[in-house]
Amino acid sequence: MSERILTGIKPTGQLTLGNYIAVLKNLRKMNDRGECFIFIADLHALTLPIEPDVLRQNSIDLAAFYLAAGLDPEKNALFLQSSVSAHAELNAIMQNYLYMGELSRMTQFKDKSAKLKENAIGLGLFAYPVLMACDIVLYDATTIPVGEDQVQHIELTRDLVNRINNRYGEILTMPKAELRKVGKRIMSLSDPTVKMSKSDPKGDIFLKDDPAVIRKKIMSAVTDLGCEVKYDEENKPGISNLLQIYCCMKDISIEEAEQRFVGYRYGDFKKAVADAVIEELEPFQQRYREIVANKSYEKALQEGAKKASVIANQTLKRVQKAIGLLQE
Ligand code: AMP
Repeated sequence: MSERILTGIKPTGQLTLGNYIAVLKNLRKMNDRGECFIFIADLHALTLPIEPDVLRQNSIDLAAFYLAAGLDPEKNALFLQSSVSAHAELNAIMQNYLYMGELSRMTQFKDKSAKLKENAIGLGLFAYPVLMACDIVLYDATTIPVGEDQVQHIELTRDLVNRINNRYGEILTMPKAELRKVGKRIMSLSDPTVKMSKSDPKGDIFLKDDPAVIRKKIMSAVTDLGCEVKYDEENKPGISNLLQIYCCMKDISIEEAEQRFVGYRYGDFKKAVADAVIEELEPFQQRYREIVANKSYEKALQEGAKKASVIANQTLKRVQKAIGLLQE
């Protein structure tokens, strides 16, 4: 079978440069590699409290960002997770095949639940990887481009596929995570020991930030003692993070970037990083504004949901039949 690529982002907050590097930047190349299913993970967004208006607006923004990044809606399917009911239906089945012990070992659950009071941790947060596994297997996806934080969830999906296929025959396709060599974990600019997420206005570069704001954030990024621009995650996490960002913007290796910045002072290096990010994001932001204005995401989402539903329902039927649910 040719490559089938699936990727999604939660519409939970402002998208960051981390999301851009992990998913959006690769969309054009993905278009050329195989059939892509690109979704807005709005059901996953409910795992932490979110206001309805915010969820709606974030979902629109995300659809527009996907299109601005070059996703071709004619060739691929762009859709809202909630508009393909097979996700929820398969979830109801698969939650019986992943176990409490496995789910409680997921580091993302541990991190996120640690910030909440016991009675505020929803079951959905705990069971998040079950729904994520369904998102993947529904489309017989072979390749899942993700950041490093999602690798454990993909491994769990692989365990589930083995478990189901061993018991019921080869009914699910085995997926694999695809990680960028450089940029698999973009860190916060204000604390380069934690991931850039959607919640730290100082440390995150948001995709909606004005160029002046982007420049200011990069120029005030935390750096390290010393003066050499060298990749050393342990001793120079700040500089290493900025080097990663630069390499991703320019599509070059760390070694090439290190060569380029021999003899640079930190301030001049940061300026070059800011220029590279702005050069990449400015035209992307312009396309995003045009798409929001002409609402072309609406048709893309409708058509995408139709395409996705056809494939997802085939898988759902296959599973229902195999496990003994009576199907017409
Ligand atoms: P999320 O924002 O959690 O919905 O994640 C959407 C995608 O972006 C997933 O593939 C994540 O692994 C990826 N991602 C999110 N934050 C980062 C980051 N700081 N560095 C690299 N990838 C990221």
